[in-house]
This record gives sequence, C-alpha cells and structure tokens, in this order.
Amino acid sequence: MKIAVLAGDGIGPEIIAQALRVLEVLKRDGLKMELEEAPYGGAGYDAHGDPLPATTLKLAREADAVLCGAVGGPKYDVLPREKRPEQGLLRMRKELGLFANLRPAILFEELASASSLKPELVAGLDILILRELTGDIYFGSPRGRRNNTAGEREGFDTMLYSEPEIRRILDVGFQAAMKRGRKLCSVDKENVLETSRLWREIANDMAKKYPEVALSHMYVDNAAMQLVRAPKQFDVIVTGNMFGDILSDEASMLTGSIGMLPSASLDVNNKGLYEPAHGSAPDIAGKNMANPLATIMSSAMMLRYTFNQEEAARRIEAAVKKVLAQGYRTADIYETETRKVGTKEMGDAVVAALN
Ligand code: NAD
Repeated sequence: MKIAVLAGDGIGPEIIAQALRVLEVLKRDGLKMELEEAPYGGAGYDAHGDPLPATTLKLAREADAVLCGAVGGPKYDVLPREKRPEQGLLRMRKELGLFANLRPAILFEELASASSLKPELVAGLDILILRELTGDIYFGSPRGRRNNTAGEREGFDTMLYSEPEIRRILDVGFQAAMKRGRKLCSVDKENVLETSRLWREIANDMAKKYPEVALSHMYVDNAAMQLVRAPKQFDVIVTGNMFGDILSDEASMLTGSIGMLPSASLDVNNKGLYEPAHGSAPDIAGKNMANPLATIMSSAMMLRYTFNQEEAARRIEAAVKKVLAQGYRTADIYETETRKVGTKEMGDAVVAALN
C-alpha cells in the first residue's frame, strides 16, 4: 500500500499528524504501508511556486491512495487564480481522473445534540452520499451567453451524461452498497429531464447484476425533503454532479460538526484521494484546537475503499466511537460535562483506544 501524504496548509499538518499516528499503529500491527509526504496547496506554492508541484503530482500518480489535509489561507488569497492553493486540489482531481465523490454523513450517538435536527431523527445516522464529479451540467457543452431574437441576453448550460459515465458511477454505488447496508437510492429528476430518464433506465438494467442490493429511485426534490424528515431511511444515495453537490452539503449539516466528516474521491480502479470535508481553518491553525477525527476517519475510508481492508477500517472507526463515548471532545464539538482536549490529545486518545 503506497500512500502519498499531502498535509497542505492551516490546520492540515496538525490533523494529518494525528492520522499518521493512527496509521503507524496499524503498521506496527502488521499492515504493510509505505507513506511519503510532499508539499501541496499553499505549502506547494511556498516550496516550488506551484500549488501542485510536479514532484507532488508524480508522487500522487505513483501512489495507490492520496491522503490530504486541507489547503488555503488568507496569505494566498492575493495570488493569481492558477497559483491559488485550491487550484492544486482541482488539478489533482482532474489529473487523477477522480470521478466519484463519497461523502458519508455519520452522527455518532454521543454527538446527537450537535445536530440541528431532533436527536431521535439523527442519532446513529450513517449514510453515504455518492456524487458524480466530472460530468453533468457543470461540464456539458454547449454553454455560454447569447442574445435571443428579441435582443435579450440569455445564459445557457447543458446537462449531459453519457452511458459509460452513468454506468461507472452507478457501479461505485452498487459496490459501496454491498460494503454497507445493501440499499441504494438513485436520485434523479426523471419526471422532467431526459438525462434522468436515461440514468434511471441504466440503473434498473444494472440492478440485475447486483441482486443483493435493493435499488430504489427518488426525485431530487423529494430526496432533499426526506434528508431532513427521516434521514435514517437511507443507506447509500447515488446521484449526478449538481444534485449531489447540493444534497451532500445538506446531509453534512445533519451531523452538526464539520470537524467530523471524512470524504473520498475515487477513480475507475478505486484509487482514491481521501480528505476531511472541511477546509484549512486558518482561524484556529497552529493552536492545537482542530478536530482531527474527520481526517482520521478519512484514513479509515482509504483502507476500506482503496485497499479493501474492512477490518482495519472498522478498527479505526470503533476507536473514534470509543473516545467519544469516553467524553473526549475538541472545542468544535465540546459540550458541558465532556472532556475538552486539543488536537494532539484527541490523537493520543484514539491511539490509546486502538491499543
Ligand atoms: P473551513 O472549513 O476551513 O472553516 C470553517 C469553520 O469551521 C471555521 O470556523 C473553522 O475553524 C471550523 N473548522 C473547520 N475544520 C475544523 C476542524 N477540523 N476542527 C475544528 N473546527 C474546524 O472553511 P473556510 O473558513 O470557508 O475556508 C478556509 C480556507 O480553506 C479557505 O482558504 C478555503 O478556500 C479553504 N478550503 C479548502 C478545502 C480543501 O482543502 N478541500 C475545502 C474548503 C475550504
């Protein structure tokens, strides 16, 4: 298992350090891993004048998986667009052909009161939103501006998905469902859109290949409603780029804390880029205040989805659950009568729980 480690900026190095400690424990216990770090984002710009230096991209290409912290910070906001830290991430997604974005929304029972929904609706929530990342109306052509015959300005975009694009994301959906609760909900707008009609037809066809998975369909407007009405009805949701963009952000808010949310982006061979869903949090960088759990759980996703090491992934997740049950909380998830700790102490607690 060759892993490129790109800590990035802001709290990136602090949270990545804790994830590495967790991986070191698994390595000690027999998992064979090779980890190599490289500068990326603002740190890449500082070192090589490029947010994705050639040596970093080479390492990311050669690795089986990439584990990232986060990028960005006010220091870099004055740079031209192509030198901005965020461009490093966008370019890497493109260069590595990462088309499937996996965003779990997990709410440990211990944190149920952090959600904006009633605890009974969300306690124990564990759903996965799978979003297609490289197609749809964000990339379809033609697109642009023009004047219509009345001389009025118009803007237009094209929603477009080819059959192979639909098949490969649905395949990831069925496979993810097989690793979880075997329920897949495909979200579309089949009552209005041709793209969705094709999508649904293909999903029904592919379901024959996965008889163990219960496939259902839902219109996106209803899915948006159901996510706040009864989110625990879902296991895996699979959808296109634009619907997924909106639904994954909606789902992340069910959990109340951005410091708890891992994410993954996969290519056709399950090579993946794993990172917390949050940014580089410059406001708390260097203060030992950041919550490292999203990054630690991203490393669990890496073991599950790229390396098929389900047992090791579960071991990490169980350790996270244990430290929460023991009352350890970083400032972002702190409540009275729990134990407030810093980034490093949270890492200590997870390592102790693993041991
Ligand atoms: P952010 O996610 O960095 O921070 C939003 C708020 O959440 C802040 O108050 C922050 O302190 C808090 N927060 C975030 N992660 C936390 C953690 N692990 N523990 C505790 N608190 C946490 O979003 P932002 O402030 O909009 O962006 C800051 C920078 O990050 C910008 O430069 C932005 O472009 C960049 N960014 C990078 C990524 C990425 O690398 N994938 C994603 C989003 C934003």
